[in-house]
Amino acid sequence: MSNSISGGCLCGKVSFSLKADFNGFYFCHCDQCKQLTGSAHASNLFTAADNIQWLSGHDLVSNFYHPSRRFSKAFCSECGSALPVVTDSGRALLVPAGSLPAESIPAELKGQHIYWAEHAHWYDSDNSAKKCDAFPQ
Ligand SMILES: [Zn+2]
Ligand SMILES: [Zn+2]
Repeated sequence: MSNSISGGCLCGKVSFSLKADFNGFYFCHCDQCKQLTGSAHASNLFTAADNIQWLSGHDLVSNFYHPSRRFSKAFCSECGSALPVVTDSGRALLVPAGSLPAESIPAELKGQHIYWAEHAHWYDSDNSAKKCDAFPQ
């Protein structure tokens, strides 16, 4: 039995629950994920396509489908937060890791970097950038 965990968007209008039963965790450095996230990479968990129960705000979930690649993104139409989406193949549910509380993701589930050939040269790949607990003064 897997534990049920809850996630949602930043504005709080969209929420969902799913079983912590993941079969993949990928940090995707492809050019599309960089542009969609505005960051170095997407962080996506994968689980069974039917492993989700929407608790609130499902009507606020918007989807973007790339016109030429098998690529989609779901987001809250109020606050823009990334949300779970069934992949184009219909066989899996993509769950943005940041849409779940960090402590709810099983510690033994280690992410893998994918599309590394496209990674941004400015990405702190050796984790050597200065660490600050808040915005530096
Ligand atoms: Zn929202
Ligand atoms: Zn990607």
